Amino acid sequence: MVLPIVDQHKPKCFLCSGSFENIEELRKHQERDHKDFAEFHKDRGPAPGDVAVF
Ligand SMILES: [Zn+2]
Repeated sequence: MVLPIVDQHKPKCFLCSGSFENIEELRKHQERDHKDFAEFHKDRGPAPGDVAVF
């Protein structure tokens, strides 16, 4: 028996409001369809202009 999947628990892309079966699908979608955004976050480290925490 398969547990019912609750729609609200599906991860949602906050860039285009698409919903996905799981977080992995969402990540693949963002890397493919929002590549610039995904790479911006992947490489996000201490950047000039960010608030520096010492
Ligand atoms: Zn999207």
